[in-house]
Amino acid sequence: MILTSEAPAASGKTQAFLQQDHQLLIDGQNVAAVSGKKIDVVDPATGQLIARVAEGDKADIDKAVTAARRAFEGGAWPKLTPSERGKLLWRLADLLEENLDEVAEIESLDNGKPRAVAAAADVPLAVDLFRYMAGWATKIEGNTIPISVPYMPDAEFHSYTLREPVGVVGQIIPWNFPLLMAAWKLGPALATGCTVVLKVAEETPLSALRLGQLIQEAGFPNGVVNIITGYGETAGAALAAHGDVDKCAFTGSTEVGKLIVKAASESNLKKITLELGGKSPNIILPDADLELAIPGAANAIFFNHGQCCCAGSRLFVHRDQFEKVAEGVAELAKQIKIGAGMNPETEMGPMVSQIQQDRVCGYLESGLSDGATALCGGQKTGENGYFVEPTVLVNTRPEMKIIQEEIFGPVVTAVSYDDTDQLIASANDSPYGLAAAVWTRDISLGHKIAKKMRAGTVWVNCYNVFDASLPFGGYKQSGWGREMGHEALNLYTETKAITIQL
Ligand code: ADP
Repeated sequence: MILTSEAPAASGKTQAFLQQDHQLLIDGQNVAAVSGKKIDVVDPATGQLIARVAEGDKADIDKAVTAARRAFEGGAWPKLTPSERGKLLWRLADLLEENLDEVAEIESLDNGKPRAVAAAADVPLAVDLFRYMAGWATKIEGNTIPISVPYMPDAEFHSYTLREPVGVVGQIIPWNFPLLMAAWKLGPALATGCTVVLKVAEETPLSALRLGQLIQEAGFPNGVVNIITGYGETAGAALAAHGDVDKCAFTGSTEVGKLIVKAASESNLKKITLELGGKSPNIILPDADLELAIPGAANAIFFNHGQCCCAGSRLFVHRDQFEKVAEGVAELAKQIKIGAGMNPETEMGPMVSQIQQDRVCGYLESGLSDGATALCGGQKTGENGYFVEPTVLVNTRPEMKIIQEEIFGPVVTAVSYDDTDQLIASANDSPYGLAAAVWTRDISLGHKIAKKMRAGTVWVNCYNVFDASLPFGGYKQSGWGREMGHEALNLYTETKAITIQL
């Protein structure tokens, strides 16, 4: 269902922010890009210009890495106690919470997601992540280890480990959850005492720039967090290839993830963590409560317009219930109110960009011409903006592109199955392994299937449940390492073993 493109204007605070001269944050200062170039930022609901930001490239990355290195090696940051680092993170969380409405509006205008969703999910999750990581700052501990050393039988030793920050971290984030991805990345880096150069997505730079202002307001020393707006092929590539960056943490496509690994291996073999694509199976077992599972399956794919790396894009339903479930999800899809994110009635906004709209529509055309049938949707919609209809595709075959590849849009393929072994093989038949879900009343069976899923997250009778304390990341080509939870801290620290002969 298409709503009018009319939407209430943003608040005065948000408008004042949009009109600022958006520069790079390097060494605590707002500076223009060395090239002087700018990037246009558009509202994807209208295609209209809403702001211009600096176009940082290699020269700016070099400056930012120098600042981050200086802040890591000397000055105030390494002298702060863990407790003081924790307090700064907590203060940042408070400031973000105080500015929740403004940040949610910025996110909605820049990314297209409903303002209400940004206010209920993206911003509070970011606040919570910073608080969770604030707590960890004082709990990053080594061990004392009794050692044996067989070739020195008479010697006595005292051995222990230190957990030290990995150093200067380059972080590259995507456009689907711009603020939240910045929080996932910055939280563990700052809790462990690293310094950061954050390269935000060119499509959605604004909420991270507002976050940068709050980071300065919170009192983080200059150079601890540097924020670069710029394109991936230039600024992002320069960061991944930089010889003085100790670690690169990336979230985005598997294709670019492979380029990041290549850049690291051809430069200084920096540590790499990757959170990449997905093609997540969402399984409805014959005994599932369909009153929950049908809306659950709709939420699994249509949340954030399907622009989620963990979207439940492959729906598996037992043959006996297939028609009822597929039709049920399609009915819900038809009722989704599509419009500008700033319209309070909107349930689904536009794709983030024209490129993304074209990409999703390309997949729709390919699926339909390969013989799939759309129970609903199947094309773009709306007069302005980059909207795509929520779509349920059936009559697919395993080799189709729409089954094999990540679409990253509001498109689910529904497939029937007959027996559980075949189901598990089909569900795991993907180069990806980010998430999976199972709907069943038989919790024991739910546990069994969860164990068999080759995925970093499995939901049972729910979908899209995230928490700062739960590790998130992928098996197979969905990534390396985990974000959130205390596991993330391991990936921002080096362990040093120290042995003293007594
Ligand atoms: P998408 O195709 O969905 O935009 P990408 O993986 O291209 O996803 O983008 C995710 C992030 O990676 C963005 O910040 C983008 O600028 C950055 N990026 C894109 N290409 C490169 C690259 N070659 N090297 C480093 N970063 C890149």
